[in-house]
Amino acid sequence: MAYCFISDLHLHEGRPDITQAFVGFLEETAPKAEKLYILGDLFEAWIGDDNQSKFISEIRESLLKVNKTTEIFFMHGNRDFLLGPEFASSSGMKLISDPYVEEMFGSPVLLMHGDLLCTKDVDYQKFRKTSRDPEWQKDFLSKSLAERQKIAKELRDVSKEATGQKKEEIMDVSRSEVIKTMRESDVDLLIHGHTHRPNSHKIDIDDLSSRRIVLGDWDKYGWYIWMDSKSCELKKFSISSN
Ligand code: MN
Repeated sequence: MAYCFISDLHLHEGRPDITQAFVGFLEETAPKAEKLYILGDLFEAWIGDDNQSKFISEIRESLLKVNKTTEIFFMHGNRDFLLGPEFASSSGMKLISDPYVEEMFGSPVLLMHGDLLCTKDVDYQKFRKTSRDPEWQKDFLSKSLAERQKIAKELRDVSKEATGQKKEEIMDVSRSEVIKTMRESDVDLLIHGHTHRPNSHKIDIDDLSSRRIVLGDWDKYGWYIWMDSKSCELKKFSISSN
């Protein structure tokens, strides 16, 4: 029995090398795990399940293939929060909520995308709340694809500009929020992505030694966490761009 975790691939047509690395990962690594957890930002952008392309169908086909051996779970990230039940089920993925707790090898493990932990970024948290409102989403999805593309681009530009001005510290998780969330969920292991700061951190919570493992974004390297009965490790492999 083994579990595998990935996040922040930010797949888009402009980086065929990353898409290729993902397809290879789904063929070679993922089938060795019983369960694969995609913890958000699989896609760089998602404006609705009705926005289909050859690029998206190829990814769907690859997911469907691995679904024969491996159960796939998908959690929304801040880029692909509009990925809906239609695309999820047509690719053989089960949607899970953020945060999500699952018992693994006898202990509960907390899974998150990670943006909820960045509480110092007040503006982002405000936007997150608005954009996760079912009414906002219904209104957005009722617009034409062209309109949605336009709005999504504007939102990305605003976010890029704001991100450029924010201090590094604001973009990372808040330590107190991590401890609070782990305590509330009664776990000693948290796995998340989002911050693009791959690492394994030890934290002491209530005299218990706990761990927070952060997945990396796929760029020069592809990152994943492999958990079996013996260990839980952050791993990486090179992505060659040819
Ligand atoms: Mn993210």
